[in-house]
Amino acid sequence: MKRCRECGEVTTSSGNVCLSCGGKLHEMSMEEKKSYIQKEDEQREVIVKKQSRKRTIELTICALLTLIGLGLFVTIIVQGRFEFFLLVFVVLIVISVLQAINPDFMWDIEHSLSFIAYDNLTPTDFHMRMYKLRGFVFLALADIIFAVYLFVG
Ligand SMILES: [Zn+2]
Repeated sequence: MKRCRECGEVTTSSGNVCLSCGGKLHEMSMEEKKSYIQKEDEQREVIVKKQSRKRTIELTICALLTLIGLGLFVTIIVQGRFEFFLLVFVVLIVISVLQAINPDFMWDIEHSLSFIAYDNLTPTDFHMRMYKLRGFVFLALADIIFAVYLFVG
């Protein structure tokens, strides 16, 4: 392992010149290596923690929205106001939950259906974020529609 004297870049390459800035590389001491690896581990741990916290929040929101939607739907049935078109929104809830929880899986399914797949682009992180967001939005939308039907319509 070598470190650049100029920019601090660490590399395992055999060359003597930094690929980032062209500065001179020097072999890292045992001490340097240890602290470098430790720092890397710490950073990775922080990222993992952040991701798992984000995941928990997402799952909680999903569960809440689903419970609200299904609760409203059951209330509609109990009140004897069921109509068949409402089933569309139950399906929408199911699809949206899957999309919000496991966007990669749903993206693959959606894009393997020839009548929906309008393109064969490889999804970027941005695509997947928007795709996932769509799941949450549609989930909330189904809840709103049930609520409007129940309390207003
Ligand atoms: Zn450098």
